[in-house]
Amino acid sequence: MSGGSDNVPDKAPDRPAVAPPLGLLAELTHRCPLQCPYCYNPVSLSGRGTELSTESWQQLFAAARALGVLQLHLSGGEPMARPDLLPLITHAAGCGLYSNLITSGVRLDRDGAQALADCGLDHVQLSFQDTDPVMADHISAYRDSFARKCAAAEAVRAAELPLTVNFVVHRQNLDRLPDMIALALSLQAGRIEIAHVQYYGWALRNRAALMPTRAQIDRASEAVAAARVAHAGRLVIDYVVPDYYAARPKPCMGGWGRQFLVVAPDGDVLPCHAAKSIPGLVFENVTQRPLADIWRDGEAFERFRGTRWMREPCRSCAYRETDFGGCRCQAMALTGAAENTDPACALSPAHAQMLAIAERDADAAPPPFAYRRFGG
Ligand code: SF4
Ligand code: SF4
Repeated sequence: MSGGSDNVPDKAPDRPAVAPPLGLLAELTHRCPLQCPYCYNPVSLSGRGTELSTESWQQLFAAARALGVLQLHLSGGEPMARPDLLPLITHAAGCGLYSNLITSGVRLDRDGAQALADCGLDHVQLSFQDTDPVMADHISAYRDSFARKCAAAEAVRAAELPLTVNFVVHRQNLDRLPDMIALALSLQAGRIEIAHVQYYGWALRNRAALMPTRAQIDRASEAVAAARVAHAGRLVIDYVVPDYYAARPKPCMGGWGRQFLVVAPDGDVLPCHAAKSIPGLVFENVTQRPLADIWRDGEAFERFRGTRWMREPCRSCAYRETDFGGCRCQAMALTGAAENTDPACALSPAHAQMLAIAERDADAAPPPFAYRRFGG
């Protein structure tokens, strides 16, 4: 593996300076004991044999910190499937990175949580599939998942690690949103993240099984607003609204190549976890080129960085430096061209079509899940 440059590279004469990234999402592995149909991992999953070594991840963490990264999100798949997770966390802490473990929690007991804390882990984000145990098992294709996750949450609290609980919401669990907030309170989480499905990878394949109705979304939004008032100062509620019913897009990843980078299990460096869904983008690997160089001028990062790549209506829009045209992967999936305006925007020519897809899918009976599996 090549070492990273120590500093943010100098501004080249003919292009604007690139600010350092704030966060790194390290997808340590695609292995996971669960099989969520909304998983954002690519449909073509990377096997164990392609994963970076312990040493390569550690070198990457050091390079990321030298580049300016402050927050390290350890994700997957299930990061606890990596037997070297503890030395990786120890190394991240030694580099001065704030580390957040994003886990399904089904393998996390009290000793495990204490070991994570002892290594210097800063935060745990625990994902739940539902508050109904039967539905939780159905969505995850994993038996006793809900009870295991509740036990994991208690283990995290016993180890005095800050806890966020996370729900990905869709038509088959959204009506239990008030229960989700009640669960977060009972588990003494400091924060709950409720995120509507983003339709990439496995989720796009399962869109018809996951798309909520507008009435469901309206009820959920009201429940979130009421809970924010009721639990102010006790629970932070982050609510990520659904794109298909939106009028304005989100600034995906805070803008392409602006704040975050993602490293896939095999070491490929991505501007967004779904970026491989865009044909023709060339991704560089941390075993081949220093991370700082990839961040500064890697082809995939440069392709949609800033606003120079934009077509109309984004090119002349007052919001182009606010939302950066929305999501490139969603534009690709729904319009066939990643350069187009995200159809979540009401100014996109494809916006009406996106809403029609949502209403069609939500009104039909949900098909069976296509579970996330290797070779799927
Ligand atoms: S979304 Fe589900 S299947 Fe995908 S990595 Fe997370 S827990 Fe595993
Ligand atoms: S036209 Fe483009 S820049 Fe303007 S609001 Fe829509 S997505 Fe954002």
